[in-house]
Amino acid sequence: MAEPTADERNEEVTMDEIVALAKRRGFVFPASEIYGGLGSTYDYGHYGVLLKNNVRNEWWRSMLTERDDIVALDSAIMQHPRVWEASGHLEGFTDPLVQCLGDCKKRWREDHLREEAGLGPEDELVCPECGGELSEPRNFNLMFQTHMGPVAEEGNEVFLRPETAQGIFINFKNVLNFARKSPPFGIAQVGKSFRNEITPGNFIFRTREFEQMEMEFFVPPDQAEEWYRTWIDIRRDWYLDLGIRPGFLTVRPHGPDELSHYSSGTSDIEYLFPIGWSELEGIANRGDFDLSRHQEFSREKMEYLDQKTGDRYLPHVIEPAAGVDRAALAFLVDSFEVDEVEGRERTVLHLHPRLAPVKVAVLPLVGKEGQPEKAREVFDAFRRAGIQAEYDQGGSIGKRYRRQDEIGTPYGVTVDHQTMEDGTVTLRDRDSLEQERLPIESLVEEIAGRLVAPWTSPKPDPRS
Ligand code: ATP
Repeated sequence: MAEPTADERNEEVTMDEIVALAKRRGFVFPASEIYGGLGSTYDYGHYGVLLKNNVRNEWWRSMLTERDDIVALDSAIMQHPRVWEASGHLEGFTDPLVQCLGDCKKRWREDHLREEAGLGPEDELVCPECGGELSEPRNFNLMFQTHMGPVAEEGNEVFLRPETAQGIFINFKNVLNFARKSPPFGIAQVGKSFRNEITPGNFIFRTREFEQMEMEFFVPPDQAEEWYRTWIDIRRDWYLDLGIRPGFLTVRPHGPDELSHYSSGTSDIEYLFPIGWSELEGIANRGDFDLSRHQEFSREKMEYLDQKTGDRYLPHVIEPAAGVDRAALAFLVDSFEVDEVEGRERTVLHLHPRLAPVKVAVLPLVGKEGQPEKAREVFDAFRRAGIQAEYDQGGSIGKRYRRQDEIGTPYGVTVDHQTMEDGTVTLRDRDSLEQERLPIESLVEEIAGRLVAPWTSPKPDPRS
C-alpha cells in the first residue's frame, strides 16, 4: 500500500463536484440561502437525512446491537458551566488566531497556516490572501456562549457543548448504578456539538454546528493500552466494512507535541479527501483525566468499587470520537464516479447498500396494462418490510436509472409486460449493471439478504 504523504490529494473528484451533486440531488443545501447564506452552515435535504440516518444507524449497530458491553446516552446540549471548567474547555479550548494587518484584514488559524506552509514555530508568516503582515497570535475560545433566562447578565452564561463526551463523564455514576456493568464497559452518544471555528470550510468537513458520534470506554487502568489498540482496529474496520477503499484510509498516531493535555495516546483515522489526508475520527487514551477532574470539581466520588476484590479505582477512558457529517462526506467522496454507460456519461454513487439513502427503486416500464398498479404493489411490499424504496413513474427508463444512480440507489426493479404474464420483474444492479429476472415473491427476501451481505466498493483502489 502506498505510504500517505502530506502533499497528496484525492484527484478522483473535486469538492466542487461533490457540492454540486449534493445540492442538485437534495443531499445538502447551503443554509439560509434565500438570505444570502450564513457562513459554513448547511441544511440537509431528504437524501442527506437518509444518508446521515444510515451512518448513525451503522454506528449504533456496531456499538450497541453487535456488542453487550456498551449502553446508550442522550445528554443535554447545555450543561452546568462548571462542567466546562472541570473539562478544561473554559481555559484551554482555544485556537491561536492571527489577523491580517494588511489590506484584507482576514483572520486565520496560525497553526493551520504553519502546517500548510510547512513552517516551524519561529518562521515568519504572512497573510496567504494578500501577503500582508499578521498580528501576534491570540487565543480564541471556541465555545459558543448564550444566556439562560430572560436577561443576559453576568452569572447566567451557559455554553453550547463543544463535544458530547463531557455529558457522558458526568453521568458515569448514574449509568453505573442502573446498567449493572463493570469496567471494561462503554457509554455511547450521538448528538450535535458546536464550535466557533475560526476557519470553517471545505463544505461539511468543518462547520460550526455538527454532529458527533462518541463513545467513552471505561477500563481498569492496566488494560488501557490494550483497549486503545483494540478500538483503533475496530473503528478502522468500521469504515472499511462500509466500503471505504483501504488505500484511502490511514491511521496516524499523534506525535508527542500534538497530544492534547489529557491524552497519553491519540491516533487519527484519516481519509484522503480532495483537500488531502484529513481526520475522520480520533481515538484517544484519556487516562483518568476526565473522571478525576469531575470528581475534584463536583466533589462526587467517581470511583468504581470492584465487589469481588474490594478494589476502588478511577477507570481509565478510551474514546473513539467521530463526526457524522465528516463520515458522510467521506462516503460521498469515496463512492463518487463518472463512468460511461451505453456511450453516455453517468454520475454514480457506489455507496454501500446499507448507507444508500434509497435501497431500491421500483419503476414501471410503461404506464399501461396495469403495470403501475403492479409496481405499486411491489413498492408497498418493500415499505412493509422496512426497506427504503422509491416509486418513480416519470420519464424514460434510462433517465430514471440515472436519477437513481446519482443518489446511489443500489437496486432497480422494473415492472414490464412480462411481469403481467409470469409475475417476474427485472432486478438491475447499480454497479455491475447486470439485470436478472426474479419472481416478485422472492424480491423482498433477496434485497434484504443483499443488504446484510459483505460488500466491497467496485471502484478501483489505485493506492492499495
Ligand atoms: P480537527 O482537528 O479537525 O479540528 P478535532 O481533533 O478537534 O478535529 P475532535 O475533538 O477529536 O476533533 O472531534 C471528533 C470528531 O468530530 C472529528 O474527528 C470530526 O469527525 C468531528 N468534528 C470535529 N470538529 C468538527 C467540525 N468543526 N465540523 C465537523 N466535524 C467536526
